[in-house]
Amino acid sequence: MADRIAELLAELQRRNPGEEEFHQSVTEVLASIGPVLSRHPELDRHRTIERICEPERQIIFRVPWTDDHGEIRINRGFRVEFNSALGPFKGGLRFHPSVTLGTVKFLGFEQTFKNALTGMPLGGAKGGADFDPKGRSDGEVMRFCQSFMTELYRHIGEYTDVPAGDIGVGQREIGYLFGQYKRITNRYEAGTITGKGIEWGGAHVRTEATGYGTVIFAREMLNARGQDIEGMSCSVSGSGNVAIFAIEKAHQLGAKVIACSDSTTAVHDPAGIDLDLLKQVKLVERARLTEYVDRRAGSEVIPDGGIWSVPVDMAMPCATQNELHEADAKVLVANGVKAVVEGANMPTTPDATALLTDSGVAFGPAKAANAGGVATSALEMQQDASRDSWSFGYTEQRLTEIMKSIHRTCFDAAAEYGDPGNYVLGANVVGFLRVSRAMVALGVI
Ligand code: GLU
Repeated sequence: MADRIAELLAELQRRNPGEEEFHQSVTEVLASIGPVLSRHPELDRHRTIERICEPERQIIFRVPWTDDHGEIRINRGFRVEFNSALGPFKGGLRFHPSVTLGTVKFLGFEQTFKNALTGMPLGGAKGGADFDPKGRSDGEVMRFCQSFMTELYRHIGEYTDVPAGDIGVGQREIGYLFGQYKRITNRYEAGTITGKGIEWGGAHVRTEATGYGTVIFAREMLNARGQDIEGMSCSVSGSGNVAIFAIEKAHQLGAKVIACSDSTTAVHDPAGIDLDLLKQVKLVERARLTEYVDRRAGSEVIPDGGIWSVPVDMAMPCATQNELHEADAKVLVANGVKAVVEGANMPTTPDATALLTDSGVAFGPAKAANAGGVATSALEMQQDASRDSWSFGYTEQRLTEIMKSIHRTCFDAAAEYGDPGNYVLGANVVGFLRVSRAMVALGVI
């Protein structure tokens, strides 16, 4: 079996040259799959793993737009529709200058397993563009989004493919994208895109869901080890919705977040992050974190920029892929970290993950830990389909139940496959089994 998996990986690398992040995400999943295929030869006979690694459809398109000076700009747009065995393609859009086809494929691949873990009827997809919204005016962002949607609209729909946000795509961008979709199609199909505003088809808790869910997952993981999140010190990297609402939920559960970061600065605030100030600086003013330090007595910029050098009980990487390296993991372990929980997608490098798990640190992989965002997107789709709107409290209760169930499912699968407490294994096994079984049932398509 090991030979077969190695061959599969070599072939995938040959056929998808230069897509390192995609190779990394597939390598991580394949490392868990051997024992599953040995137990389920019928899945292997149907070549489900080969089929899962090949996206159903990949769309690459030109996105021309005009900047505020009348200059014509060209970006590249992507939508990779990875797998629709369990439901319509579902996953966010990322606008960031670093986005390539390989980035979108890694994200779409991860999304397929993550969405399966939620237990909701969701396929997996991801999209985006190498557009940088930073420093762009509202008008420029709107024109970019309209141009992007002028191509994307023909590929999406509530039964086909349902985009949402990711890095660089928040409620402002979702509004412009949905507006253009509505205009072109002449239909108010709210269920075609999620992450909408509450007044125009959106759902309560969607903004908070990824961060909240990550912390709920962390609490469950700690409880399973007889530990309590209450009273723990934490560091949370990133300054988007995931990080900010992870900090909010951690504080609600009695933990204290003492370090946070954005793409240029890391901050240590021993008294605990002032969330109102952080929201004001990052969500309202879209300013740098140095603004936070200027206004908050007792906080300081961490000199070498390394958020992971602050001693904490729990670290939550919530910024972006490959942000927590082996050297960071070493420092965290030396400082006695008890848990690392991923709010971003694939933020921990493979050698860092190995070091943490080998050192007995509880490790919550993104596919399971950050699935609350897309799960709440599915709740938004339910509300759109039934012309209903649920309260914040009810929606949060649903999210909490979903996170507990994801935790329990991964925990049980890890134990069944002989490595109790290994959530990487548990998440990969459950995600793979759910997608594979549906693929077998649907025939060779
Ligand atoms: N981009 C988010 C994720 O990584 C959310 C996707 C969605 O809601 O469709 O899961």
